[in-house]
Amino acid sequence: MMPTVQLINEFEEKLKNLSDDELRAKTTAWKEELAKIPDTEEQWKRLDEILPEAFAVVKNAARRLTERKHTFTVCDQPMTWNMVHFDVQLIGGMVLHRGRIAEMATGEGKTLVATLPLYLNALAGRGAHLVTVNDYLARRDAEWMGQLYNFLGLTYGCIEHDQPPDSRREQYAMDITYGTNSEFGFDYLRDNGMATTREQQVQRGYYYAIVDEVDSILIDEARTPLIISGPATVSTHQYDKWKPLVDQLVRKQNMLGNRIASEAMEKFEKGEIEDAGILMFKVKLGQPRNKQLLRMMEDPDKRRAIDKAELSFYADTRKEELFALKEELFYTIDEKSNETDLSEQGREFLNPDDPNAFVLPDLISEFTEIDLDPTLPDTEKDAKKTERQHHCDVQAERIHNIAQLLRAYCLFEKDVQYVIEENKVVIVDEYTGRKMPGRRWSDGLHQAVEAKEGVQIDRETQTLATITIQNYFRLYQKLAGMTGTAETEAAEFHDIYKLDVNMIPTNRPIVRKDANDRIYKTRREKYNAVINEIRECHARQQPVLVGTVSVEASELLSRMWHSRKIPHNVLNAKFHMQEAEIVQRAGQPGTVTISTNMAGRGTDIKLGEGVADRGGLYVLGTERHEARRIDRQLRGRCARQGDPGASRFYVSFEDDLMRNFGAADRMTRIMERFGLEEGQELEHPWLNKSVETAQKRVEQRNYLARKRTLDFDDVMNNQREVVYTYRNETIDTEEPRPLIYEVIDESVPAKVKEYLDGNEPNYTGLLHWVNTTFPLGLNKEKAQFETRSVEENAQFLIEKIKDAYERKSSHEEPAAVKSLERYIILNAIDRLWQEHLYAMDALREGVYLRGYAQKDPLVEYKTEAYDMFVELMANIKNEVLHNLFRSTSNLQAFENFLATLPQFLTREHPPTGAAATTTAAAGEHGDGSGEVTLDLPVRRSLPKVGRNEPCPCGSGKKYKSCCGRTA
Ligand code: ADP
Ligand code: MG
Repeated sequence: MMPTVQLINEFEEKLKNLSDDELRAKTTAWKEELAKIPDTEEQWKRLDEILPEAFAVVKNAARRLTERKHTFTVCDQPMTWNMVHFDVQLIGGMVLHRGRIAEMATGEGKTLVATLPLYLNALAGRGAHLVTVNDYLARRDAEWMGQLYNFLGLTYGCIEHDQPPDSRREQYAMDITYGTNSEFGFDYLRDNGMATTREQQVQRGYYYAIVDEVDSILIDEARTPLIISGPATVSTHQYDKWKPLVDQLVRKQNMLGNRIASEAMEKFEKGEIEDAGILMFKVKLGQPRNKQLLRMMEDPDKRRAIDKAELSFYADTRKEELFALKEELFYTIDEKSNETDLSEQGREFLNPDDPNAFVLPDLISEFTEIDLDPTLPDTEKDAKKTERQHHCDVQAERIHNIAQLLRAYCLFEKDVQYVIEENKVVIVDEYTGRKMPGRRWSDGLHQAVEAKEGVQIDRETQTLATITIQNYFRLYQKLAGMTGTAETEAAEFHDIYKLDVNMIPTNRPIVRKDANDRIYKTRREKYNAVINEIRECHARQQPVLVGTVSVEASELLSRMWHSRKIPHNVLNAKFHMQEAEIVQRAGQPGTVTISTNMAGRGTDIKLGEGVADRGGLYVLGTERHEARRIDRQLRGRCARQGDPGASRFYVSFEDDLMRNFGAADRMTRIMERFGLEEGQELEHPWLNKSVETAQKRVEQRNYLARKRTLDFDDVMNNQREVVYTYRNETIDTEEPRPLIYEVIDESVPAKVKEYLDGNEPNYTGLLHWVNTTFPLGLNKEKAQFETRSVEENAQFLIEKIKDAYERKSSHEEPAAVKSLERYIILNAIDRLWQEHLYAMDALREGVYLRGYAQKDPLVEYKTEAYDMFVELMANIKNEVLHNLFRSTSNLQAFENFLATLPQFLTREHPPTGAAATTTAAAGEHGDGSGEVTLDLPVRRSLPKVGRNEPCPCGSGKKYKSCCGRTA
């Protein structure tokens, strides 16, 4: 890439002689040229060709702004422009243009890097998006970099949280648009799931996007999908019903846990180490966060006894014993896999009358039994199977509800994973400590937590539209990303997003000193050491940035320091702007700043005066994070742009990471070998390695979990694409009539087949269906179905229906007909798609339960989802057919049409008693949908007209002497 850098700089040299207007003219010329290339591929090619000169233009504009000390305000703060792109930034820009991830360290100026490819790609006129992690950064970066775009004659905009649709549309219409991932994603959902006209939509396509802090957005945020929900039509859950019982059960188990732990303590004291270890292992199975258990894990002897018990029970030969051990508890819970399991005792407690209430029946055997039962008539077999299936569904729902409640009670802690605000459960992002209002855990877990906390269970809502962040970003024709830390997740970026990672060298060499981890037995000892270290830094006025892994830990540290009178700032994730100010100050002499996780904070720390001489910023991690990437983020906050700086992590065996994924056994042995004294620490490069091994294990597991979510969402994604495309086609088309005819052409033959394609063709049924759906007024004699083949009958009906439809529409305003036709299709899509989403949710829950029966849930899900989708599409079309003659834009026009029909047609009585249900159903479809709905073919729902009033058919005669004559 170096030759290109040279080329850019040569171009830039030449540009220096141009006037401002001449420089700006380049933009207009390129835009005009590119607008004439309709093919995207061709456009890309051309963009590649002009890249060196275009980048040079941007760089030159930056130079001009620097030279004239251009001043402006960003987020109400005065600023002066002082940046000209460095060579490494040009390289970063090229990587972004190619649709890759540029890994560039913190402080390398990624905000400025993005201006190069954004400018270049915006020239194509299809919109270039820059995605940031929060509203504040979107606005800051837009106003800041906007200086450059403005100068070059490009427009820029910014999507903000509370913007009304009109302003959003304006922002999207700009050449370059900044915004957060959720705003972009929600706009997509609203445009495609809710808007009914092109005018209501705000976005204009997905051409090119650069995702800033790409790891934070595509990996950390990707775990909770964006969901728009609305009033639910169905609700089945029983969380509030089961809550009191589960509450008691959890309490019983906790008491049991405490009792066993005390027993174990006695045994330890008596020297019965092995028995005690087994007892404590049992506590771990049932109550992994038991206080006494955590304390015993601090003691190497006890810890080893417990680990030994655990190891031995997981040996294959002891399966039975492990099972027996579990049965002594009410339930078991696995912190690593999040799994819960009720024991016999637990089931008995929850439902003493029927302990089988929590076991899924063996449907397959039951079905076989029913099939083979000679005493059952065939007709009853199906009914019986349906009954068993229903029974199974009820059980499944119950098991699921209980399992989610147990998880809510035992693994989800208030103020850690969530907070309660305004009587709502709000998820806290475990990586950043930020609250994520509006997001919900899926699969009923959110309701379970709501039940546990006694707040309103949001049963009234259901998903109206949903997409994962991953799938939103896959919509873009070209996607790029930038971050300080992508390398460790390169495989995931490649597999899921087809994004390759390129490491860009820093502008100046990095001189940061990364010290070995310091490892302690207990948290308490670790924190004491941290406090001492900070005190020393503070004494020599070296600024310290202290990283924690949770908001809880930040607050704990803050309290400890408060009492020890160490002045400090705590980063408060609630206010992004204040946060940015605190971060900016974090490099001043003697400052101590505590922060939960620095990933995606987007503000870099500049050193205050004299700080460089004191070693620069010191980064102190109080715990290793689950992912190595987050640790790298934290370290990367110091030593930016060649500054001095140092970093060190403090770790204790009590940290979650170490407890769950550390080589517990090995660690215990080391502790013993070294005979660690109170307050003593371990430090060795080899130990860093084993911490990292633990991290890699967690990363792998989390990756698989995300992949799994995506596998499931992929199924939905394909369906969403089909439905949204259909929807947009309907919205966009000038002529909706062909879409309507397409429905007739497809659905009528299918229906005809349904009636006629059996052993015994059901002519009466077909006739009835025709006459209750279309005003054709057919009778047996006119229909003559018997004389034609199935296909001929279909063709015959299609022609008749189209003909009638033409006649109906000819009585209406052409424009009104068009919007009515669009409306009929959109309405059918939306209503049934939402129902479908609901069913898919249920299916997803359901297949997990089937997972118990050793089937792969994903395979099951795919097969059934496919069947459901085929059905959905057929249903949509049938609903369109159904409403074709029932809706009208204008009652008068509809009556005009009805008046032209031969009277007997609209009065024909249906051949069977099914008429009542048909009309009732027709009434339902019209509910609340705004259009006028009339029962067909019976005309009795027409409004009453006075005998002397003009006839509504438009004939000009009085009603009594026109249509009213027969009444
Ligand atoms: P990153 O996002 O990569 O961490 P930022 O975009 O926040 O970095 O930029 C960090 C700082 O570096 C900003 O204060 C910015 O003004 C400065 N900076 C970036 N590029 C340049 C440059 N070419 N010349 C001078 N300062 C720069
Ligand atoms: Mg940044």
